[in-house]
Amino acid sequence: MIEVFEATELPRARAAGALVARILQTLRSRCEVGTNLLDLDRWTREMITEAGAVSCYVDYAPSFGRGPFGHVVCTSVNDAVLHGLPHDRGLADGDLLTLDLAVSLDGIVADSAVSFLVGDSRPAESVALIEATERALDAGIAAAGPGARLGDVSHAIGAVLGEAGYRVNTEFGGHGVGSTMHQDPHVANTGRPGRGYKLRPGLLLALEPWVMADTDVLVTDADGWTLRSATGCRTAHSEHTIAITDDGAEVLTAREPAA
Ligand code: MG
Ligand code: MG
Repeated sequence: MIEVFEATELPRARAAGALVARILQTLRSRCEVGTNLLDLDRWTREMITEAGAVSCYVDYAPSFGRGPFGHVVCTSVNDAVLHGLPHDRGLADGDLLTLDLAVSLDGIVADSAVSFLVGDSRPAESVALIEATERALDAGIAAAGPGARLGDVSHAIGAVLGEAGYRVNTEFGGHGVGSTMHQDPHVANTGRPGRGYKLRPGLLLALEPWVMADTDVLVTDADGWTLRSATGCRTAHSEHTIAITDDGAEVLTAREPAA
């Protein structure tokens, strides 16, 4: 099912997006060498509760995970890229961390992810991975708007990732959001322009390019949730929720630039 919202409902979507952006920004500012992933989860839970929002993850039990997730934020470190289950682990200098957060506020979901390096180390390969997913996300957003096709968005994302030298995995990608987290349509991270569903005002989409440095093959961690690169290489993931408007695409989960 594809949900389409009235313009009058956009303020609710904006509020959900702003909350997700604010929580991710706060978490990022608290990530230092030694910060424990379970503390990130605990702080997220506190911020969600304080805002009167509901986690989309805690009870989530899809076919690709083992039972309810049980936590409220995905914390994927280094070779982990998607659905990282928080564990009792302290962050180290140079760790590449991806935080992925989805909450429902007043009945509308927002979903966003950010990858960044912890501490002072800036390994070139990791910086390149992060920047490629950010550029791909920007390209996908620029390609989205009323009348554009889903394939235009997928193609824009995939072209940037491909030019950066990465292979695109098509098992997981973006999706519609609305009253629940994962809705139609699926937004693949590669595609053919001019094809697919025609975007229209009121549609909310989560765009989420992600890549692995030298492979497109995922393996599932023993925890039953965390998806890692099959080769152990590093990975990155960038995600925003956007609203298709009469004028183009509005980014609902935009954050302030990182300090
Ligand atoms: Mg997400
Ligand atoms: Mg998503």
